Amino acid sequence: MFCEVEFLRHVAVPTEDVDTNGRPPTTAIVSSLLKQLKMCKALEEFGYILGVTKLKTVTNGKINNESLKYTNFLVDFICRTILPVKGEVMTGVVHSIGRYGAFLKSGPIKIVYLSTRKMPSYYYFVEEGGKPVFLSNDLSRIEKDVVVRFMVYATRWNQPTRDIQVLASIEGESLGPMARWDEILSLPVQNPPTLEFSACDLVWSKVEGHRDNMDRLALVPFARVDDFVRGESNNKDCPTRFHVEARRRRPPKMPYKPKVDGILEYILYWCSFGPDDHRKGGVVRPSRSTYVPKKKSAGRPNTKRGCTCHFIVKRLIAEPSVALVIYNQDKHVDKKGLPCHGPQDKKSVGTRAMYAPFISEDLRLRVLSLLHVGIPVETIMQRHNESVEKQGGPSNRDDLLTHRYVRIQERNIRRSTWELDEDDDVSIGLWVESHQSHVFFYEDFSDTDPFLLGIQTDWQLQQMIRFGNGRLLAFDSRFATNKLKYPIQSLVVFNSDNKAIPVAWIISPRFSRSGDTHRWMRALFNRVRTKDPTWKLAGFIIDDPLCDILTIREVFHCSVLICFWRVRHAWHKNLMMRCSYMEKRAKISKALGQIVKDICRGCGTLESLDNFMENFAECRDFMDYFKAIWYPRMGPWITALKTLPLASQESSAALEFYHNQLKIRLLNENDPDIYQRADWLVDKLGTKIQAYFWLDEYEGKDDFSRYWKDEWASGLTAWRKSRTIPNTDVVTEGDRVKVIDQKDRDTAHVIWNPGSEYAICSCSWAEKGNLCEHVCKVIQYFRDQGSTLPSLSLQQYNRGLIEMLKCPPPNSFIRDHAVSLAIWVNEQLRAQFANGGQSGGSGERDETVNSGTQMEVDLELC
Ligand SMILES: [Zn+2]
Ligand SMILES: [Zn+2]
Repeated sequence: MFCEVEFLRHVAVPTEDVDTNGRPPTTAIVSSLLKQLKMCKALEEFGYILGVTKLKTVTNGKINNESLKYTNFLVDFICRTILPVKGEVMTGVVHSIGRYGAFLKSGPIKIVYLSTRKMPSYYYFVEEGGKPVFLSNDLSRIEKDVVVRFMVYATRWNQPTRDIQVLASIEGESLGPMARWDEILSLPVQNPPTLEFSACDLVWSKVEGHRDNMDRLALVPFARVDDFVRGESNNKDCPTRFHVEARRRRPPKMPYKPKVDGILEYILYWCSFGPDDHRKGGVVRPSRSTYVPKKKSAGRPNTKRGCTCHFIVKRLIAEPSVALVIYNQDKHVDKKGLPCHGPQDKKSVGTRAMYAPFISEDLRLRVLSLLHVGIPVETIMQRHNESVEKQGGPSNRDDLLTHRYVRIQERNIRRSTWELDEDDDVSIGLWVESHQSHVFFYEDFSDTDPFLLGIQTDWQLQQMIRFGNGRLLAFDSRFATNKLKYPIQSLVVFNSDNKAIPVAWIISPRFSRSGDTHRWMRALFNRVRTKDPTWKLAGFIIDDPLCDILTIREVFHCSVLICFWRVRHAWHKNLMMRCSYMEKRAKISKALGQIVKDICRGCGTLESLDNFMENFAECRDFMDYFKAIWYPRMGPWITALKTLPLASQESSAALEFYHNQLKIRLLNENDPDIYQRADWLVDKLGTKIQAYFWLDEYEGKDDFSRYWKDEWASGLTAWRKSRTIPNTDVVTEGDRVKVIDQKDRDTAHVIWNPGSEYAICSCSWAEKGNLCEHVCKVIQYFRDQGSTLPSLSLQQYNRGLIEMLKCPPPNSFIRDHAVSLAIWVNEQLRAQFANGGQSGGSGERDETVNSGTQMEVDLELC
């Protein structure tokens, strides 16, 4: 049993540590006491000393007569002890087995002897390999490392070693061996592939607990404990939040004996409506009764309601990557066993206690995003209150959003600064330190490698899992290379509208090479895999032939596609700038398009470019540009286009759109000097830029339409926009086509080279080099009519399939493998179509389905 015992002890404290009032520092007293108590170990009448719980009085010190260096104090203090008492039930771990009994340890009690006479139904047995065990008729075993619940039969004080020896017995109800630690550790580690998970997603093993009730336990990866805590907080029947009530961590360098149940970390999570009870007549723990809450911060539960729901997370030395979750009390009830919050609690109706104590993560992000992009507090609250009113009053935790909470967030944003230090490099270091959760990779300049920082917020990680799994990831490898001190590389996924969402940003000096990819890519992959072990990419789109394709394949195990948007965009933009005649532009563009097509089909060479430059030599301005910038770079492009599949026009349109969006949202500062600061950049990416992209996905953003600015404008990609133009608005005029403007019906845009992405349109968007919706519309219109060839990417797809048909697997065993692979690919594609089915379908997809059907027909004929 545990006892609280009062002691009096003399403590010598170095005189120099005593303050001017003659009082010694408390830490010196306590550490000196602990040293003394450790020497003493145990006392016959009180048992083992566990620790000092309270210092009652410290009487004034007297200077030590023998040495002036120390002052003596008389300390009156209270200790907690554990004393084994006859008849008491305890648990211990077996550490050795002998013919006449087993030796156990129980906490500080090192000698607990369980004699064969006190376990009559067990018999001694030596297994093959020489391992001794005690076996019973019901096959339960007592062997090394087994936890045994025993009753104290007798105790004896051993003066020379200052130990209490215990004689144990397991005769009686509910005594005997409990779960083995290695059995617990051999339970499967459960890792549900959802962003968060709760108790009902896990299979729980029941193990007799150290108390009278049954504990339920499960193993999950330690890295996912946060996901479990979040899942448990979002419990549908009783939403709440769990906080860390107690945490113990073993210092990393502390030596330890290899013990099977040794613990690296112990965390006690408790429902935030407990454990104290501030309701009328409730019990508050003595240690907390003197605590005066400063101010009630917004969103905190205004009262604790004595909830007893809690669970423990243990990280074991034997398996540090795994967390053992032990649920002691999984019901949200108070000490009397009655519901004390949530819908089951009658008394909480209409108060915050009916819902969770805090707003949801989603609402928090929404509030922060709106504040970051400049929506005033009043407007946010007004919209919020309107929507709550419309639904007839509060019905969940988020409806109780308070004005105060939003105001505090606004103030925090207003007061925060991106300049953490005058020196940019120091500032970045500080930012990284305080934003650990946003950083998946960071290395400062070294002798061999340049600075490299990988940023991914929690929200970005979620999007990467959601839209990346089984789908595509695309790389925007250069952004603002001439403007920013450290240019940005983005990784994007495509959402249900096939719009690009950035899921990671990598910033490094512009002289860093694409060969640096391996430095950060693995870290990013591991981060995603920790959250979702089943996560897998279907393909990776690159936009630069010099990308480190080997690393991409090695890390993601997927195929690599190449996207040509950047080059097409540059050509188009420069044509518009450097060549003044529409007709000429169209001709040059058409010729370039043909060259690219030939290269992709495998027949284009550098000579075709020589011919091209000769043919259009009179267009000197553009040709000078082409010769200087592109001619020397085309070698690697030709190789890449010949060896890698080409990404579709729709993904090109999405990447171009993302690039433009990022430009509008990031490079809108009044003072261009700021672009030379990297701390400004990382701050803006993590706050404002994420906020804009978050809002793109947020349905309610239109409520704030009167604040629409360019940065807000999200809309659809040119490819998607073109789907809304009716065929009747496309008018053919000779070898040109006119498309009526959808907003201003008196305007028509003229398109040269219709039916190709190398078309030239007269609209202002195309003038900047962009692929506009009119060009996209005409491509689809021509394809529907059958007057133009299918896209290059589809031709490559068809060619791939036909080549596969032409090359039958050499033996029937490999054929089985090929059939199963083909079916798997088909299922994957079908699953993706089913997910995006509502979005109205895209041209590329219809094309693919048609060609797929055609392939099936061909197969039948074979
Ligand atoms: Zn609770
Ligand atoms: Zn246009």
